[in-house]
Amino acid sequence: MYRFSTTGPDIAMFETAIAGSLPKPSWLAEQNKLWPQWKLAGEELAEAKNDATLLWIKSQEDAGIDTVGDGEQSRQHFVHGFLESVEGIDFDHKVKMGIRNNRYDAMVPTVVAPLRLRGRVHEPEAKLARAHTKHKLKFTMPGPMTIVDTIADRHYGDKVKMAMAFAELLNQEARALEAQGVDIIQFDEPAFNVYMDDVTKWGIDALHRAIEGLRCKTAVHICYGYGIKANIDWKNSLGNEWRQYEEILPALASSRIDQVSVECIHSRVPMNLLKLLDGKDVMIGVIDVASDKVETPEEIAGVIAEAMKYLPKESLRPCTNCGMAPMHRDIAMAKLSALGAGAALARKRFG
Ligand code: ZN
Repeated sequence: MYRFSTTGPDIAMFETAIAGSLPKPSWLAEQNKLWPQWKLAGEELAEAKNDATLLWIKSQEDAGIDTVGDGEQSRQHFVHGFLESVEGIDFDHKVKMGIRNNRYDAMVPTVVAPLRLRGRVHEPEAKLARAHTKHKLKFTMPGPMTIVDTIADRHYGDKVKMAMAFAELLNQEARALEAQGVDIIQFDEPAFNVYMDDVTKWGIDALHRAIEGLRCKTAVHICYGYGIKANIDWKNSLGNEWRQYEEILPALASSRIDQVSVECIHSRVPMNLLKLLDGKDVMIGVIDVASDKVETPEEIAGVIAEAMKYLPKESLRPCTNCGMAPMHRDIAMAKLSALGAGAALARKRFG
């Protein structure tokens, strides 16, 4: 850990983290896919998921990442990984649904009965990760709004009611993760950048329901999506300046969520919008997940310098723009190292 003061409070400068997902090794799952099929089954699969989790924890530590995660190695997809542990959902008859305001079609399961957790969702991987790292540990889960945008409903008949039901289940799992020693619980809400009105109407309330009673740090990640073609096409349609954050960041700034993760590098988000998050810890995206070109430490320090114009440097946490699940493993590894090196350079320069 790098400390910017030896006499002051124990605060690290430019603590690094990743948004969440990392690529699955080729022996675990299909490559370069958002919804990859597992290559193993039963106990072999469970063992392989554990091995992949350990591999990525070590890789993050080696790259100088301060807050590490499980890289989401135990779940097929960041939303359905949670849903698989929920009762009241029919997974056998998936239906085609336009998601993220019809940006792309996905085959989604359907809510058919009251929702209940079947048991723990991330217990084994949280236990494994906690036992093998002394770094801060972050766990990610899908946010309530993003879940209801990725599932069909034949039971609740009301999106907000269903979101609150999911928020309650997320809260149960979050409390259990906290009890296992997880330091930060993050909810991923890419849907916040799509349904901006709903964020203030009920999206923040749903997040508050999900973090109820937690004493650990909480975070929300809001991005413009993974680097897949449908997202790249959508981004190209958003014009020269992406101002979605302008509508939602004020609501997040006044929320009880501790940290906000936003997309910055190679994005058309005007950096001055960051000042709307004054008072929060902000994970700034300094790694582009939509490009295989590996950032240089110089470039990363440049983005950090730009962010420092709008937010106190103590609040900045260099991070990836989004998850790296669909990337090549060697590129993701190189980008992790770049993230560590870029933050180190920024500490030297601005610390
Ligand atoms: Zn994302």
